[in-house]
Amino acid sequence: MYNCIICRYHEIATKGNNRGMFERCLVENIRHLLKTLDGIKVSRVRGRVRVERDDKGAFTGEQLDVIKSQLRKCFGLESFSPAVITAVDMEEIRPIAVELAAGAIGAYQGEGKVAFRVRARRSNKRFPLTSRDIEIDLVSAVAARTGEDKFTIDLNNAQITLGCEVRDEFAVLFMESIPAPGGLPVGCNPRVMTLLSGGIDSPVAAWLIMKRGSPCDFITFHSAPYTPPETVEKVQRVAGKLNEYQMHGTLCIANLSEFQKAVRDNCKEKFRTVLYRRAMMRIAEIAARHRRCHALVTGDSLGQVASQTVPNMYSVGKAVDMLVLRPLVGSDKLECIRLAEEIGTFDISNVQVPDSCTVFAPSSPCTSSEPEILEQEEKKIPDYWQILEKIALNLEEWT
Ligand code: ATP
Ligand code: MG
Repeated sequence: MYNCIICRYHEIATKGNNRGMFERCLVENIRHLLKTLDGIKVSRVRGRVRVERDDKGAFTGEQLDVIKSQLRKCFGLESFSPAVITAVDMEEIRPIAVELAAGAIGAYQGEGKVAFRVRARRSNKRFPLTSRDIEIDLVSAVAARTGEDKFTIDLNNAQITLGCEVRDEFAVLFMESIPAPGGLPVGCNPRVMTLLSGGIDSPVAAWLIMKRGSPCDFITFHSAPYTPPETVEKVQRVAGKLNEYQMHGTLCIANLSEFQKAVRDNCKEKFRTVLYRRAMMRIAEIAARHRRCHALVTGDSLGQVASQTVPNMYSVGKAVDMLVLRPLVGSDKLECIRLAEEIGTFDISNVQVPDSCTVFAPSSPCTSSEPEILEQEEKKIPDYWQILEKIALNLEEWT
């Protein structure tokens, strides 16, 4: 019987003058996420977003399944509820509340009495009943239908909650509040470029920055023929998964092997990894400027491996003149894994394929470096910039 989805947001509500911009962006993203459904209307209603069918009818089971799985991926949303919309009138609210709650109580299969509660919210201050009055009214009406012996009232540990929101223009009744990822709607902050490897961390980093409202393009480095096609295919699958959370992101694919050979042939072995990483940043910066991205994003986590010590992160960041965002810098590996599982990238990333960074990898990489020393090393490669520019010019774009 659900004929409405009521969508709640949190952080957007704290915005001042440009709150409308955030709300419009959120509505646009919800429309995009639900684009496979025909005849759906998404509208702003003070402090909430409302999703309905054009014909105001009840959603089908299939429509609800799509809506539930898609809105769980909607940044900016705090939670949402399939709901029944009614007029602002207890005489209309009450029978629907009874219908919904009695149905859920009747379907309870567990032992003993089910713990039940009504949670009312009244933003319409002209409504004659307070939130507490509404709760008492609805509990009594439900008890009259089911019999008082069918449930106990438990305000803190209810197994079944009936929600009721009485707003200025309408009221809604709902039985569940489904959590969404929160954050800000993708598109309300500038586009960024994420360096996406086949590892577990960088997809999580991209996701966290998308959660702050920045759409992501991606760049990945492989080392064909020293790495197999699977190295890139894996990153394509990761980018595909991440794109489920945003309108669109392009994956740029770069072959670093020519540069890696030049490093192997000219530079001190222990610096190889940081030199690769500096080159990756520089190529990513060129691609980012070309694609109007305003920052680079990496999955660095402080101290995780030799290339992620404080001095090495400094040396790598110094290679570019662009903001570098490292959202995982303070996270440990288990936290990253848990998030990757939640996002749906873990199972893709966890398949072992050769990584570009391990090509000609030094047996003991330096844990400390200085930009000046690395610049000296780079000068030993006579055509350093030509090689990088050639790689940047030959990016393959995958969408
Ligand atoms: P991840 O799990 O994200 O691969 P990692 O623990 O393997 O991280 P590093 O290999 O040191 O760590 O990489 C640190 C960051 O550098 C990555 O998070 C990613 O942003 C970037 N990076 C590393 N290798 C690549 C690559 N082949 N292509 C694109 N970006 C890369
Ligand atoms: Mg890696």
